[in-house]
Order: sequence, then C-alpha cells, then structure tokens
Amino acid sequence: MLGKMKPKVFTAEQLNAIKVEAVQQTVDVVVQKSADPENFPVFDIPVNSKVLIYVPNHVLTDEEGNEELRMDKPLIHTVINGKRYQKIRCIRGLSSEAGYSGECPLCNGEQDPWALANEQIKEQCKMRGLDPNDSANESVKTIKREYYSKRVVKSPEQSYTFPIVVIETDPNEIKKIVVDENGVPKHKAYWYTISKGAYEKKWLKALEGMEEEPSHPGGNFFILNYTYESKSGEYNKRDSARELQVVPKKIKNLVQYVEQYDKETEEWDITKAIETIFDNMFYEEDDIADETGKILAGTREKLAIYESAVNAPVAGGFNLQAQTPAVGLPQGADDDDDMSGLPMEGETDAE
Ligand SMILES: [Zn+2]
Repeated sequence: MLGKMKPKVFTAEQLNAIKVEAVQQTVDVVVQKSADPENFPVFDIPVNSKVLIYVPNHVLTDEEGNEELRMDKPLIHTVINGKRYQKIRCIRGLSSEAGYSGECPLCNGEQDPWALANEQIKEQCKMRGLDPNDSANESVKTIKREYYSKRVVKSPEQSYTFPIVVIETDPNEIKKIVVDENGVPKHKAYWYTISKGAYEKKWLKALEGMEEEPSHPGGNFFILNYTYESKSGEYNKRDSARELQVVPKKIKNLVQYVEQYDKETEEWDITKAIETIFDNMFYEEDDIADETGKILAGTREKLAIYESAVNAPVAGGFNLQAQTPAVGLPQGADDDDDMSGLPMEGETDAE
C-alpha cells in the first residue's frame, strides 16, 4: 500500500498487454550530454562491444616543437546533487583575465564532506568495535570506502576530450564495414572523453606498441574493445569502460578517407568542446557558489549534529570527549576508487 494510491484496475485486454510489456520494460534514462547533439554528439560507451574509430589528426605544437593532440583537458568535480550525480567543471586557479577570481567554490567546499565522512567512519567503527586507524582491516576498509564514496563533492579529476570518427561496422563483425549506396563507409563524428589516468593506461600503452610509436593517436585507426567476461552475466557501461582495450589498426581500405575525416572535424576544437559538452562547460562563479551551497546543505546539517555532540557539556563541567585525540584519517586514501560502487548517471571513460 503506497499512501493513497490504489492499484490500477485493468480490462482483460490491458491485462494481456501488461503481461507482455511488463517483462520487456526497461529503464531508459536519456541524459543529454551535448548542447548540440545533432552536430556535436557525445560518444556513448557501448556495453560489451567493439567500435572501429579514427582519431582525427588535429594537433598543437608546444614551445619545444612537440606535437600533441588538440584536446580539451577539463578538471571536473563529480557531485551528488540530491540523488543525481552531476559533473561540474572546476574553476580553481582561473584568473580575472578569464573572468574568474581564482577560487573554486566546490574545491573550497570539499572539506565538509571529508569531515562528515570521517565522523561517520569513526562512529561506524566504534559501533562495530573496530579501530578506524587499522587500515589493514578489511571491514575498516569497506566502511571507509562506503563513506568516502558518499561525499557529495569530490576532488576534481582531469579528463581528456577530443573528437573521434566512428566507422559503422556490422554489429556482429567488426571487420565488416557498412557502406552507403555509393560504397562509401558510413561514419559519424563524436566527442570522446576519457579520464587522464585511463588515457595513460590504455591509449598511451597502445601507442607504445605501434611501430612508429607516435606521441598521440591523431591520424590513426583503432578498435575500442569494450568486451569482457562477466561472472554474473550482467554487463554494464561502467565495467565496459573499465575493461576498455585500445587496439591500433591499419586499415588500407580506409586510408583514402583520412583527409576527409580530418576536414569534417576541423571545427571540433577546444572552444567547441567547451561550448557544446555539458561536462566541459564553464559556469558563472556565483552560480557555482549557489549550487555548492545547495549541494553541501545536507552535509553541513549532519556535520553540525556531530560537532554539537562533541561540544556538549558533560556533567561535572569537563568536556571529556574533547580531550580524546581526534582520529586522523588520511584524506584521499581511498580517492582512487572514488567512483567504485557509485551508480553513475551517464558515464565517462573515467575509471
Ligand atoms: Zn574546483
């Protein structure tokens, strides 16, 4: 019984339809990732499958003459806003020339979620007779991971964003390229984002294995292999992203299109990434401050309760609890698996 809601009464026909439809029902939450999904769509990580791509060869040259791929490198905070996971670009260190003060309200607000997590960890450990400093203890680790992952504002993490051209292939056979009526391979450009850590682990490793050992992937074809074995038989985007293997491919039949693909993606520069991808956008400092206040409200309320409990006068006039040395929990100890166990809204190749 759910409040005043009554069970719906069905006709016989409806009931038959329900029996069929209810078992096929899926949760299809479409999270819009681009402000211009028509012209600048964002690549969606495919679950347990392979994708053939080309990385357009748009490069920047640094002072020393080294070539690197032209990409946006946003620092992004993951925040929990109510029940929703959101990404907000960090503005720390951006100067008045860029229209900012150099402060980031989210970075400045990070301490409270840490403090709350530490209080909750202390409390949980105490309840279960565990020592929160016993970092080798599996139960302590689990408790820490749980509460650190619940922090509503996470430290910013760097990602890399660049365009890729996805070449359409047979869903069951990556080697079969789908062509249009003129025999031209079907293809489409997307924004691709991957965490810096995953880029180094997967992309750079793939480049090292290539004959020419290029410093960046621009101008080359790759298979993004998201397939994996799942013990449970369940496959999802997060695990697919984690299992990604980047495999360089030489494809003779496609080399003739490389110039065209580069030309078609000329517009996909850093400015365009900031303009079109929601995760990469810069917001007004005041708006970020307002949003941060809302995001942190619950954390601050809970923290105040812990603090008032500690500061409450104890009979006899001594505040004995305050004499107890504060349990120091290393901040960032579990930062690596920040994202583990979190139901992701949308996803990135972040892992
Ligand atoms: Zn920040």
